[in-house]
Amino acid sequence: MPIWNPEYEMMPRDQLEKLQVQRLREVMTRVADVPFYKKKFADANISADKIKSLDDVRRIPFTEKNDLRDNYPFGMFTVPLEQVIRIHASSGTTGKPTVAGYTRADLEVWTEVMARTVTSAGVTSRDIVHNAYGYGLFTGGLGFHLGAEKVGAMVIPISGGLTKRQVMLMEDLGATVLCCTPSYALVIAEEAAEMGVDFKKQMKVRIGVFGAEPWSEKMRQEIQSKLGLEAFDIYGLTEIIGPGVSVECEYHKGLHIQEDHFLAEIINPDTGEQIPPGEEGELVLTTLTKEAMPVIRYRTRDRTRLYIDRCPCGRTTVRMDKVLGRTDDMLIIRGVNVFPQLIERTLLSLEDIEPHYQIVIDRPKDQLDTIEVWVEASPRLFQPIDPDKLNELQKRVARELTQTLGISVGVKLMGPKSIQRFEGKAKRVIDKREL
Ligand SMILES: [Zn+2]
Repeated sequence: MPIWNPEYEMMPRDQLEKLQVQRLREVMTRVADVPFYKKKFADANISADKIKSLDDVRRIPFTEKNDLRDNYPFGMFTVPLEQVIRIHASSGTTGKPTVAGYTRADLEVWTEVMARTVTSAGVTSRDIVHNAYGYGLFTGGLGFHLGAEKVGAMVIPISGGLTKRQVMLMEDLGATVLCCTPSYALVIAEEAAEMGVDFKKQMKVRIGVFGAEPWSEKMRQEIQSKLGLEAFDIYGLTEIIGPGVSVECEYHKGLHIQEDHFLAEIINPDTGEQIPPGEEGELVLTTLTKEAMPVIRYRTRDRTRLYIDRCPCGRTTVRMDKVLGRTDDMLIIRGVNVFPQLIERTLLSLEDIEPHYQIVIDRPKDQLDTIEVWVEASPRLFQPIDPDKLNELQKRVARELTQTLGISVGVKLMGPKSIQRFEGKAKRVIDKREL
């Protein structure tokens, strides 16, 4: 499979690490006058000239999501606003969003890493890319747009929504690549089936590039079998650049990080200490080349691990595991830590269960927290309705979930299409304790 930029993606490790040290010094110099960093660096007695090797990165204080919020909207910018030519923002579910700015050079870096991303998934100038990521403040739509155009593919900037029209255009225009959230890929598959379109036979889509929400291996199998494509996982976040931080290659053994632009570390989220490769912890990222809004040692809250062994694809860059949970997403129910992804994995391993679910957490008055999983059962159990089978299935799902999570879980089986569908990121958890 072709590699977009072998000079950097296949750079010998010693050379790459030298480049990272040099760029780390440069970026620390660039942010030195931002009041937030000025104070942090002074308190920690660290500055660009004290960085001699990558180990010295440990001496630099972390940057957290709250720091970005406190400096809303432009307090973290290192260049005058006249040099900023694009703004994106992350979807703040509560309060103000996190704003990110890009200079012309930042957009070039983003285009470059997105060109690497789509090339890694096998996209070439001969492809027709159906880009159903949302266009707008969200980075998904425009990020994929830049990368796909750069490699010379034909881009269909369809954005999310109006799913019937999406199915029609995918077929009529002969899309070969689908880019969207994994949950929306399933919505498209479902809509196609309802329209009487045999996705695998009538569509030419062979590659799917999915991200922007955590999704399990089981979900990958589900998508691949329903849409008849090879699914690639991507990773990124607005605070760092958007999509483009890392992507799977054809071996699907983790996501290659674009290390000449992003320095990755794994830390113990409780102590802040660095953790060696292979062990799970929180991903921390430093942007090495960003101009408008570099971020130093950003705590992503995403849990993963790094692999440094060589990948058969020939790239020398480290790989990160598929992100299976954000530290923020972890639910604490009756003192037990519960990751929604574990629930997804369990559900999708069961027969007669559809990949559409929601998790409802509640705190009845004067009682312990409850967790209930609403999930759609196979449509065939409703045509005609088979109460015995449904009853048996409900018990089996509850038993499996209770065993896996270690707390008792209620299960409500739902009929076809009764769980809400999402055009972008799915909202899987309804936590009524917050209401
Ligand atoms: Zn590889």
